[in-house]
Amino acid sequence: MRKLGLNKTQLQLLAILAMVVDHTAWGFVDFMSPLGQGMHIFGRLTLPIMCFFIAEGYRHTSNLRSYISRMMTFALISIIPFYAFFHEEYYYRQNIIFDLLLALLALSAMEHRQWNKAIRIMLVALVILVSFVVGGWVLMPIVYVFIFYYSRDFKEAAKRFVVATGLMEVGLIALILLNQQYHFSVYDWTVPERLYLVGFVLALIPLSLYNGEKGGTWLPRYFFYGFYPVHFAVLAYIKYLLNGINWQEIYIQAHIVSLLIGVALLFYVLLQKSSRAQVSVVFFLTMGVMYVYGFLMEITAHDVGGVYTATKLQYFALSMVLVAITYCNQELCHVKMPTLLFVFQAVVTLISMHYLFTYERNQMFYTGISVNAQAGPFPRMEIEGYGPAFYGFLLYAFIICGINIGVGAYAAIHGTQTQKKRLHLLFFGLLSMWGAYIIKPLNLTNGYEIPALFIPFTAYFITRALVRYNYLDSVTVNFGNAISGGQTGILVIDRNHKVLYHNEAIHGLFGKIKKFDDAFKIPDVEAVFTHKINTLERNGHTYDIKVEPVLEQGHHTGDILWVYDLTEHYQDYDRMLKTSTHDDLTGLFNRRWFEDKVEELIAKNETGAFFMVDLDKFKHVNDTYGHQVGDMALIVLATCLKNARSKISDSNFYPARFGGDEFCIFYRGETNPVVLSEFSQKLIAAYDKELEDNGYPDLTSLSLGIAILDPQLFGKGEEVNFSKLYNCADQALYQAKEKGRKTFRFYIPE
Ligand code: GH3
Ligand code: MG
Repeated sequence: MRKLGLNKTQLQLLAILAMVVDHTAWGFVDFMSPLGQGMHIFGRLTLPIMCFFIAEGYRHTSNLRSYISRMMTFALISIIPFYAFFHEEYYYRQNIIFDLLLALLALSAMEHRQWNKAIRIMLVALVILVSFVVGGWVLMPIVYVFIFYYSRDFKEAAKRFVVATGLMEVGLIALILLNQQYHFSVYDWTVPERLYLVGFVLALIPLSLYNGEKGGTWLPRYFFYGFYPVHFAVLAYIKYLLNGINWQEIYIQAHIVSLLIGVALLFYVLLQKSSRAQVSVVFFLTMGVMYVYGFLMEITAHDVGGVYTATKLQYFALSMVLVAITYCNQELCHVKMPTLLFVFQAVVTLISMHYLFTYERNQMFYTGISVNAQAGPFPRMEIEGYGPAFYGFLLYAFIICGINIGVGAYAAIHGTQTQKKRLHLLFFGLLSMWGAYIIKPLNLTNGYEIPALFIPFTAYFITRALVRYNYLDSVTVNFGNAISGGQTGILVIDRNHKVLYHNEAIHGLFGKIKKFDDAFKIPDVEAVFTHKINTLERNGHTYDIKVEPVLEQGHHTGDILWVYDLTEHYQDYDRMLKTSTHDDLTGLFNRRWFEDKVEELIAKNETGAFFMVDLDKFKHVNDTYGHQVGDMALIVLATCLKNARSKISDSNFYPARFGGDEFCIFYRGETNPVVLSEFSQKLIAAYDKELEDNGYPDLTSLSLGIAILDPQLFGKGEEVNFSKLYNCADQALYQAKEKGRKTFRFYIPE
């Protein structure tokens, strides 16, 4: 069921109706007349309703950042129309959206519970201070928003609201009376003139009827935000038609505002995690602020010296802005600008500055300047003629802008989604730089063009491009500080394979890699990222590689490569494998390995001799001397076999222990019975000698059975395999044992 009362849209429409009535009264109706007072009191409905919905908005917003930046955008857009209408009354004070923005910032700071309470309170105090200096309604919006947000229910809020409004009114009256005495403020109001402010409490009536519904889906998006600057522009135009507008005054005020915005953005960026891209924007903003300050100096100077000094400052700042644009472009578009370009920019800046400072001597920059004090409310520098250095500078500025536009366009075509979004903002930023020249034909400022005014817009767009779409830059740099020297190699690339970050460890693996290089130029890197390989061997080390996507707010913005040095793990693994192929006690190959090896050689049609070696009366050794001595006898045999192996060759002689006192040998390539007999005798003798050397002469001895692997010896077509060889050798061994042991026998096929 629909609840009775007013929904959000209806209340906001009421608020803007009251606002239009109020502003119409400011523009065109005598302030103290009954009509004027009535209109202004009705106009008081606006601020509380807006504050109410800021508190509501904060409570329900799903994205505080975009809420704040939306307010900021419209506060900026409203500056010019607001001043066009209100310049006489407000000096440097700001429009209501700016006020509401400050209130929203104060509330956000207060509610940022991760921060220490003292810090939060200090931040709120700071916002209040700013509001005192430049806010249109000073303290009120912050107080109202806090009341609406922190009250339990509307009843409590209403009570607090009445008390707060009363207190502020009393405070204001006190200030007015004091000012009449001491004249400290430019606002020389009288008490009756400010009584209409009590009208704020009237807003509680419509607000009490709020039914919590949204209403009004028929209105265009951002209607309430957009309405504000538009209605001021219309009213200002009507006022201009009726009275004429003091543009020069607006011009000075606008410069002050530009400066404030520039400084505010500077702090905003500084407060972010600082990546190189963000540093680039700080650089840009600093120079932008200096540029605006130069303009402000110029229009407030009183003689040619002052104007000329201001010009020098402007040119310096402008040169630096051009350098900053190149640097920003590099960091934001992920395109490496040649160092030579920066050197070139530095040199041109120095030369230009030199000629600007020495123009009187060589007339390279100007051929003459003078000051025209009658140019308007402020004097202006008249340039009599331009020298070659000036035209050189102009050409230089065009070249730099051209290069940067080219780079931007390239990145826009080949860039990632994130970069494209960034570039849209950068494009608006650059466009707004030249906005001054678009409005130049209007000749609004008596010859003074206003590029400085557009710097904050440019800065705003660039700042936004960076803070909103800075994903990888901040991620990689912060994290980079922590891991730059680590053992694990890290390489971060964007979606176009450009290197955004790498640490030292990466160099050892892939060679020299620089930021913004195309990582895929190195074939190994490409293979790794495309999952073709996941291990690498380098300088005796084995590396494992993992690729993971970088996801930022759901965007796949790049990939991160982790390279782990797993050499030790692999060595452990090797050791493990070895133990499974070798016999524990003797270190010779074990049965499984040996069997595989011999099968492999048979399959390759290799020839050779298969030996079975067995200790004689070994049981007796164990029984008489114990297992330890038995083990020694086994190890001694292993030593003899290893010695034989090193004499013959690793790849031709494979000794193995089969278990117990049973050993096997495969003597690859040797089928000559004479040689094999000689070898057998030597082995038996060597074992004797070795036992003797170990202090156990005649402890035991060796018996050998030999099967020659030679196709001629086995019947034609008869299949040879391991077990056949083994059985043949075993038969031969049996004969050796039969013949009294410590001897050898060949297997003789029937
Ligand atoms: P033959 O001359 O006929 O070969 O007599 P033998 O006593 O050597 O008989 P056989 O080869 O069958 O004996 C194997 C003996 O080896 C049985 C067991 O006590 C001993 N043995 C098996 N493994 C080990 C071992 O790891 N260490 C020790 N010390 N003895 C072992
Ligand atoms: Mg034996």
